[in-house]
Amino acid sequence: MASNLSAPHFHNEEAAFAFVEARVWPEGPNCPHCGGVERIGKMGGKSTRTGLYKCYQCRKPFTVRMGTVFEASKVPLHIWLQAMFLIAGSKKGISSNQLHRTLGVTLKTAWFMSHRIREAMRDNGLFNFGSDGGVVEVDETFIGNDRTIKPLGDKRGRGFHHKHKILSLVDRTTGRAKSMVVDNLRASTLLPILKENIAKEAAIHTDEASQYQNLSRDFASHDFVRHGAGEYGRGDVHTNTIEGYFSIFKRGMKGIYQHCGKAHLHRYLAEFRYNNRVAQDMGDTQRADIALLGVVGKRLTYQTIGA
Ligand SMILES: [Zn+2]
Repeated sequence: MASNLSAPHFHNEEAAFAFVEARVWPEGPNCPHCGGVERIGKMGGKSTRTGLYKCYQCRKPFTVRMGTVFEASKVPLHIWLQAMFLIAGSKKGISSNQLHRTLGVTLKTAWFMSHRIREAMRDNGLFNFGSDGGVVEVDETFIGNDRTIKPLGDKRGRGFHHKHKILSLVDRTTGRAKSMVVDNLRASTLLPILKENIAKEAAIHTDEASQYQNLSRDFASHDFVRHGAGEYGRGDVHTNTIEGYFSIFKRGMKGIYQHCGKAHLHRYLAEFRYNNRVAQDMGDTQRADIALLGVVGKRLTYQTIGA
């Protein structure tokens, strides 16, 4: 039996480049400077950097790292691939501190890598929730404290006015979940987000909260459960899937991202939803592989991350 981590691209720099090149350039190398695909030569020789090519059209050198989240990083590519495997395969997320200890890179580097990888994993939302006419559960939850908002009155720590507000959607057919940070829970804030992410054909299930009234105008149907009246479901009308999702979500967020600022929260959410597509039969290796496809064209520097 071979461990997933015994694959050569996790240990050998040449193999790591070959692995990434096969995915980023399925049709062969292309020059990130001029876009050329012809007259490209691989540089050889002992003193040459691994994976170095030269474009004879614009006469500039390049590697597959250019134009990806791996650009301008001194960390060997095979270490990046280990980090991606760990992050994409972890159900509850991995802290920068854990990555630092496991990979033997500095804490600052680990932090930088994990943010870049999360960016690569950000879901681009290629298809809408509920596009098969199935049920999409919608609900909100509150986590942490948004330090940009003062708690109301003297009762510090009570209520949710000052907490981060998270809106989540779960497609009951595919098991896909998506969460986002929202500024408030007004219908005028939420409706545009719901319309952007959910297909018109979808059947929406929510609780009775006022912000979800009138959703039947924009979607095929809208049913809700009256939690206030002690009702937890009528036949297939319920929000149990999303409540189950929230309980895993809160456990995952609590242990690792306790002091998460609002600016970073959306990246953590991207990682979380990536790792929790419960109904999708996807192994850790496949998940890491798909995450790798996200590295193309996602430059992320210290400046764009902010601190
Ligand atoms: Zn070129």
